[in-house]
Amino acid sequence: MKKTSVVVFDTKPYDQEWLIKAANGKPINWKFYEFRFEPDTAPSAKGHDVACIFVNDNANREALKTLSELGIRFIAMRCAGFNNLDLDAAKEFGFTVTRVPNYSPYAVAEHTIALLLTLNRKIHRAYNRVRELNFSLNGLVGFDLYGKTAGIIGTGKIGKIVAEILSGFKMKILAYDPVQDQNWAKKVQCHYCSLEELVTQSDIITLHLPLLPETYHIIDQKILSLCRPGAFLINVSRGKLIDTVALLEALKDGKLGGVCLDVYEEEENVFFRDLSEEGLKDDVLARLLTFPNVLITAHQAFLTYEALSDISRVTVENICRFATGQPPLEGTLLTAPSS
Ligand code: NAD
Repeated sequence: MKKTSVVVFDTKPYDQEWLIKAANGKPINWKFYEFRFEPDTAPSAKGHDVACIFVNDNANREALKTLSELGIRFIAMRCAGFNNLDLDAAKEFGFTVTRVPNYSPYAVAEHTIALLLTLNRKIHRAYNRVRELNFSLNGLVGFDLYGKTAGIIGTGKIGKIVAEILSGFKMKILAYDPVQDQNWAKKVQCHYCSLEELVTQSDIITLHLPLLPETYHIIDQKILSLCRPGAFLINVSRGKLIDTVALLEALKDGKLGGVCLDVYEEEENVFFRDLSEEGLKDDVLARLLTFPNVLITAHQAFLTYEALSDISRVTVENICRFATGQPPLEGTLLTAPSS
């Protein structure tokens, strides 16, 4: 049987390990590249049948045109979000594109809570202190989550799990989503309200919505000005949901109590890379890192064994299905020539 040749961009050792494991015994030849997929690197897909791309790859029109000219017909995205792919261009060039919309939402929801608890209770600072034999508690005061209000923006798969965990802390739950699930809200005792109402009333605001033209900078200077003094803002969704310059101003004004970010507007140039020798050229990110009440992780919310296993399994299954002319797994198709 002819093997399908798959070129995989933006890979780390753990991606390679899980994809190889998922493809065990299946007719796939892998070519792994550590560099990203973008217009300049797209020609490296030459000679392959399938391109497999990730969250910070740049599948713009120019890069897709190159893939199309190289005869590639299938793009397997091994992520949930697809804001980094020009869907109109993908349709125009007649690609089949799949993604992995349903890999462990628990991974991302639990990381949200990890960030919140770490920053609120200053675990990261306490850990370093204690290792240096400094057992002082000065500056480590946090607050009880019990009885406070959490505002969930976006009550899809991840937002719902975050709401359910926080309701276990006996927090009051508010939510904003243009599509409301009232049955679920009733069960969790969650109250849907407007975005403005949510930000004015919440002690903790957490973002769980996709990046779309209409959600770009949904957290802007106006929304930040409505936040409660001392409020915590958490973003594990997409960096461009927040106007980072406005966020910096709110931090400088002492308006926010804490900011937890797993994503950042310009993360493509920084995240997933070791810059410890090179230094940081992004002044906005450098400034953000100076605030003691800002905690940043580098887009790692998805990084659990379960999520990596789901991502690899769905990606491999869709590659095999494409190779044998079968439709992709339910719910994973973004576009196909006939759609
Ligand atoms: P989902 O599709 O299940 O839910 C998204 C929800 O957002 C939906 O309920 C939708 O109605 C809502 N929404 C759409 N527009 C909105 C708006 N203007 N205001 C408020 N809500 C709006 O998606 P999910 O699986 O819960 O994932 C949410 C996001 O998390 C993804 O889009 C992705 O960007 C991000 N994500 C991040 C990581 C990570 O590792 N950091 C991993 C996976 C997903």
